[in-house]
Amino acid sequence: MIEFNSVSKRYAGNVIALSDINFFIDKGEFVFLVGPSGAGKSTILKLILKEEEPSSGEILVNGYNVTRMKPKDIPYYRRKLGVVFQDYKLLPDKTIYDNVAFAMIVTGTPWSLIRKQVPMVLSLVGLSDKAYRYPRELSGGEQQRAAIARALVNNPTILIADEPTGNLDPDTAWGIMELINEINRRGTTVLVATHAKEIVTNMKKRVISLNMGNIVRDQTRGVYGDVA
Ligand code: ADP
Ligand code: ADP
Repeated sequence: MIEFNSVSKRYAGNVIALSDINFFIDKGEFVFLVGPSGAGKSTILKLILKEEEPSSGEILVNGYNVTRMKPKDIPYYRRKLGVVFQDYKLLPDKTIYDNVAFAMIVTGTPWSLIRKQVPMVLSLVGLSDKAYRYPRELSGGEQQRAAIARALVNNPTILIADEPTGNLDPDTAWGIMELINEINRRGTTVLVATHAKEIVTNMKKRVISLNMGNIVRDQTRGVYGDVA
């Protein structure tokens, strides 16, 4: 499903963000990616999303060799990846319904399908009664639920979240992580980069710990732990 084979990433200015990273994430897994700021978490997510290219190594995702993909395949590849960010990235001048529908419009989905699918994902994230609100009228947790609905509307095989609870209070953060867990239970593979120590330790999921571009720990039912 997601495989990194000897992946290294060096940015301009000789910054080594990742050195010789190896891991395999199976279909249906829930994986936390943890580590201090600068450890390389976002770089791993960017490599999967093909927003950055590795300096060396091989990345396989959903049956694609990401580094050797034909340019015409990239939009189809990205469509199967749902992405959630710390700052939600909702369009402020569109309602929640339209924010979610927009993700389907840009992929050329017919309206008949959009009209069925958007209410379904809004119901899944618990926002049916807020569909015609604008992002600024929602709390942070609700905006993140809307962003998760948008990430799911095209039925991705993998949900990737970069610090999804970073701007939320602890109770709201728990609710968001519970929602992501429910999405995983329904079959979507999940990869979450986070600093939310308490949540990671309590959820007992696989934890890949990074430090200075290296994997320092990979535990099946891990805790956040302190990076030595
Ligand atoms: P994390 O997400 O764990 O905080 P990152 O993957 O963002 O870590 O960063 C890993 C390292 O790469 C850091 O030293 C960071 O400063 C560096 N880095 C990230 N993006 C760039 C970039 N575009 N150009 C140069 N260096 C970068
Ligand atoms: P939280 O305590 O989670 O931060 P808020 O106090 O921001 O939540 O909002 C509580 C409720 O009020 C939410 O359901 C939200 O949708 C609604 N709400 C907040 N701001 C507005 C607004 N400007 N217009 C309409 N509804 C709002």
